Amino acid sequence: MTDDRSDVAAATTREAVAAVAAASATWAAGPYADRARVIRAIADALDSAADDLITTAREETRLPEARLAGELKRTTFQLRLFADVAEDGAFLDVRIDRPDADWPMGAPRPDLRRMLVPIGPVLVFAASNFPFAFSVAGGDTAAALAAGNAVLVKAHSGHPRLSDATAAVISSAARSAGAPDDLVRVIHGTENGVAALRDPAIKAASFTGSIAGGRALFDIANARPEPIPFYGELGSVNPAFVAPTAASRRADEIAQGYLGSITGSRGQLCTKPGLLLVPAESPVLATLRDAEVPDSAPLLNDRIQQGFVEGLTSMSEHHAVSVLRGGSDSIADPPGTTLLFTTVDEVLNDPDALITEVFGPAGLVVSYEDPEKLPELARVLDGQLTATIVADEDAAGDIALARTLVPILTEKAGRILWNQWPTGVSVTHAQQHGGPYPATTAPTTTAVGTASITRFLRPVSFQNFPGALLPDALRDGNPLGFPQQIDG
Ligand code: NAP
Repeated sequence: MTDDRSDVAAATTREAVAAVAAASATWAAGPYADRARVIRAIADALDSAADDLITTAREETRLPEARLAGELKRTTFQLRLFADVAEDGAFLDVRIDRPDADWPMGAPRPDLRRMLVPIGPVLVFAASNFPFAFSVAGGDTAAALAAGNAVLVKAHSGHPRLSDATAAVISSAARSAGAPDDLVRVIHGTENGVAALRDPAIKAASFTGSIAGGRALFDIANARPEPIPFYGELGSVNPAFVAPTAASRRADEIAQGYLGSITGSRGQLCTKPGLLLVPAESPVLATLRDAEVPDSAPLLNDRIQQGFVEGLTSMSEHHAVSVLRGGSDSIADPPGTTLLFTTVDEVLNDPDALITEVFGPAGLVVSYEDPEKLPELARVLDGQLTATIVADEDAAGDIALARTLVPILTEKAGRILWNQWPTGVSVTHAQQHGGPYPATTAPTTTAVGTASITRFLRPVSFQNFPGALLPDALRDGNPLGFPQQIDG
């Protein structure tokens, strides 16, 4: 980019941040019912524009129509769910402590009233692999809006036209529903994303993508004169542990389920179970090798294709790795489905090389002779989004193994599954899509589900305030009818 063009881009980014900051202040001050109404209007407008949006998404992402239609449905469902949350008011976590002269800490308790307030303008780095659900109108945008913040989206370079088209639908619907202008704005360009992240008006940022990119942006967010929360969802291998009895009784079902999970969306899912532990000589291995898999299809974009080829090549070249299934098309464009193979002892010898995410239709199958090795392997894992146990409840050996694994996996992962596969993340109240680093940079929060609203809120306590100056949610008599936790 020439200096002139980068000056223009920087000015455009500054203007976009300022506009979003102005909208954020107005939006935060408005009634909660208005937030819900506007968010529902946005969802309705996106549904109405589905045909055009899906056509553009197909052109830019190479994802099939059915997958995109399902994803858009999930996205508008997600928006409506957050509208319900905004209206219900429980997300404010209102706590009221009435004054108590005999408070046992040894000094009287003052009147204290605590609630969560909007954190301020939010910057969202959109993901490549979910052009709707983790992009301009995605989960972080929905959560930030419901929390009372306007949103600046750094569009992913993999779907720039779709990003603009989605933003246009949102803006028009939001304006018609009475929202401030610039409630959601989009910017493009890697450097502009960085400039926006450095802008003092931005108060929180979220990200879905690579470990390298997420870590670089996390470091920038923390190096600001005013550091801000940076909710990065980065990389995860999502190990799946198959216990001996389940493997012997349900080999076909397990192998088919696994193959379905690693080939769905061509393996381009952050929850793809990239590491499968199975007993040596298990019949699961034969089905994994021979079962039908979907035809090859192109990956999202050239960058993802290149990353897949590099990751798979590097792992295949490891001296302890052989090929269980796959051939010359493994690293073709589009790539076939590949399963690499090694043993648990080899993984324990070189975990850094072998426990690593390969984003695309591939997995590493790891055999074990001794189930005692599974907890050993679980202990060397880095932070994960998910960990899966496949076991039979009526088999004492499987249950004993699971009892050992669960506490270790609870330390390592954000979601632990029993006899289900981790792809297909449901948008619900109890969902947890996060985990210790490098799964995320913020293990205390989730990227999916209504609990993600806390990412974009900040607690404030009001001490000894007259009722007339308190926010409505904290007043005596509870004029909003929101849940209040009252002590005293
Ligand atoms: P990415 O390269 O990390 O890019 C994600 C976003 O961050 C893009 O907007 C990108 O900008 C920006 N970005 C990346 N590095 C940056 C840097 N150093 N400075 C400033 N901005 C930066 O992720 P991707 O393109 O989606 O996919 C690449 C790899 O990420 C995949 O192969 C996969 O391994 C991983 N991935 C993980 C998940 C997950 O859910 N954890 C999801 C998707 C991908 P530009 O678009 O302008 O380059």
